[in-house]
Amino acid sequence: MQAVFLNPPEPPAPCRRPIRELPDALVSQIAAGEVVERPASVVRELLDNALDAGAHEIAIKLMGGGIRSVVVEDDGAGIPADELPLALRRHATSKIASLAELEGVVTMGFRGEALAAIASIAEVQIASRTAEAAHAKRLDAHSGELVPVARGVGTSVEVRELFFATPARRKFLKSEPTEFAHCLEAARRHALARPEVGFTVWHEGKLVQQWRRASAAQRMVDVLGADFVDQSREIAIQSGVLRIRGRSGTPEAARARADQQYVYVNGRFVRDKLIAHGVRSAYADVLHGGRQPAYVLFIEIAPDRVDVNVHPTKIEVRFRESREVHQAVRRAVETALAFPRASTADETAPPAGTADAASNAAPHASPFATHPSGRHDTAQQASLGLQQLSVLYAQELPARWNGRDAPAPTVLDTATAPVYALPLAAPDAWPLGRAIAQIAGIFVLAENAQGLVIVDMHAAHERIVYERLKAGFGDASIESQPLLIPASFKATPHEIATAEAHVDNLRALGIEVTPLSATALAVRSQPAALAGGDVVELARSVLAELAQFDATSVIQRARDQILSTMACHGAVRANRQLTLTEMNALLRDMEATDRIDQCNHGRPTWRQITRKELDGLFWRGR
Ligand code: ADP
Ligand code: MG
Repeated sequence: MQAVFLNPPEPPAPCRRPIRELPDALVSQIAAGEVVERPASVVRELLDNALDAGAHEIAIKLMGGGIRSVVVEDDGAGIPADELPLALRRHATSKIASLAELEGVVTMGFRGEALAAIASIAEVQIASRTAEAAHAKRLDAHSGELVPVARGVGTSVEVRELFFATPARRKFLKSEPTEFAHCLEAARRHALARPEVGFTVWHEGKLVQQWRRASAAQRMVDVLGADFVDQSREIAIQSGVLRIRGRSGTPEAARARADQQYVYVNGRFVRDKLIAHGVRSAYADVLHGGRQPAYVLFIEIAPDRVDVNVHPTKIEVRFRESREVHQAVRRAVETALAFPRASTADETAPPAGTADAASNAAPHASPFATHPSGRHDTAQQASLGLQQLSVLYAQELPARWNGRDAPAPTVLDTATAPVYALPLAAPDAWPLGRAIAQIAGIFVLAENAQGLVIVDMHAAHERIVYERLKAGFGDASIESQPLLIPASFKATPHEIATAEAHVDNLRALGIEVTPLSATALAVRSQPAALAGGDVVELARSVLAELAQFDATSVIQRARDQILSTMACHGAVRANRQLTLTEMNALLRDMEATDRIDQCNHGRPTWRQITRKELDGLFWRGR
C-alpha cells in the first residue's frame, strides 16, 4: 500500500505558454473538421454556393468517388476577379453585412467559411467570370496565382486530393463507391428542392445522372421514382407561422431503411429530431414494426423564426416555436394519411343511383367519410353502421371503462334492418361493395365495382374500435390501476424534475410517478389497460418524451397507444361466424372510418382484387 504514496504520480510539467491567436491556416483546418467530413460535404457546400449565385444549370464532376476530385460548374452570377482571393478568406461572404441581415436572410448559408475550410485541407482552384468581365480568371488557392482562362459566365470550383494534408482524416474515408454514393445523395437532396435548376452528375468522365429542369411534381418523380409518388399522399397545409408541402408515403410503402426521408426548411435540407419525431408520431399507429416511412417535407417559415446557422454544416436548425412546428408537422402528415386508399384511387367510380338516403343527401364524389368536409355528411351513415356492429363487440368489451358505460349491446333484428339489404344490381353504390361470404373464419369477401374485396375482419374491426375509442374518449383520462408494490427505478435528476413538473399530464395517462429519493423514482399506478406490462419502461419512455416534446402531443400519442391496446382486445376475434348483415355493417363502418387501410399495428385491413386480375387468373380475353 505504502509504495503508492512513496511514488506519487508526476504532476504534468509546468509548461505554460503565452496566449496567442491561432494561425489562420490552423483555424481553417479546425473549422474544416466540422464542415468537411467527406467528399459529399464538399459537394453540398459547392452546390449551396452555386444555387445562391442563381445558377440554372449545374454540373457535378467527380473522380475517385470525389476523393480525387470534385468539380462543380455553374452558370450563376460569377465572382469579380478582384474578389476571388476574398472568397477563400475565412468569414468572408457576400451574403450578409450586418446582424440585422443575419436574421432575415434566406440563402443556403452564409457562415463564410466553407471555401476557406475546404482550401485548408485540399487543393482548390476557382475559375469565375461575371457578365461584365471580358474573360474568366482562375485563382489557385495554394499559390495565390491568378491567370486568365476561357470560360462562360459562372463559376467552376475544383477541389482535388481531399485531406492530402491531414492523412489521419483521409483514413476515415470509405471506399470510392461508398463516397460516390454519398456525393450522389448530396446532389439528390439539392435536386429535389430546386426543380427549376438542371443538374448533371459525372463520375470518371461518364454521365451518371441527369435531372432536367422540370416542375416540382416531375422532379419528384425523376429523383424518387414514380413508385414513391404513386404510393404517397399529398401534404399541403398552412398553420400559423408555417407552411408545409410535400408528400408522405403510405404505411404500406414504408421501407426497411430510413433512406427516403427528406425534410427541407426554407429550401435547405435538414436533419431535425423534432421534425422527425413529429412525422413518426403521425405514423405511430399505422406503421408496422420498425418500418421507416418515406416522405418529403418542404417547410417554409419566416426566416426570423428559425436559426439556420447553429450548426457548421447547417444541417440542424433551431426553431423559435419548436412545439408549434412539431404539432404542425404531425398534423400535416396525419391529415394526409387519414385519406383511405380507395377514395384516392383513380378507378373508383362515383356512386351512381345509390339506394341510400344518407348518401343521396351528400353530393360528394367520394363516398368515404375521411375528407374533412365529408365528415359531417357521412356521420349519419357511420352511426347506422355502428349501432348494428356494436352487437359484434358488445360482449368483448369490458362493461365499464373508467366509469363510463360501454356501448349497450343492440340486438340485431334482421327484419327491421333494411339498410344493408342492397339491391342486387348496385354493388358499386358502396366503395367496399356488398358482402358475399366469410372464409377461414377471418376473411370477409365482398363484391364491389372493381371486383373482389377481401377484408381481414379482426384487423378492420380493430381500427374501427380504435378510432371510435379515440373520438369517444376525448379529453377524459385513462383509467388508472394502483400497483400493489410500487416499481422503483434509478432516475436521473432530469427525469425526476420532469416527473415533478408533469404530475397532471402523467395522471391523464393513468400513470403516477413520485420521487423516492434524490436518485430514484417510483411508479405507483399504471394504465389499467396495460396491466402486466413493463411499467418502468413505460414510465421512462413517457418521461423522456415529456422532457423533449410538447406535452399535448406526447399525451395524445401515449393515450393512443393505450387505446390501441384496448381496441385490440375489443375487436372481433377470428373464428366468429358473422351473418351477411353483420358483414355488410362491418364494410359500411370501414368506409366511415379514418385510417381504415391499416389496423393499429400497421397491417393492411383489406385488399382489392380487380376484375382484370380475376380475368387474368382464368386467361379470359386473351
Ligand atoms: P458563404 O457561402 O457562407 O458566403 P463560402 O466560403 O461558401 O461562404 O463562399 C464565400 C463567398 O464566395 C460567397 O459569399 C460568394 O460571394 C462567393 N462564391 C462562392 N461560390 C460561388 C459561386 N459558385 N458563384 C458565385 N459566388 C460564389
Ligand atoms: Mg457557402
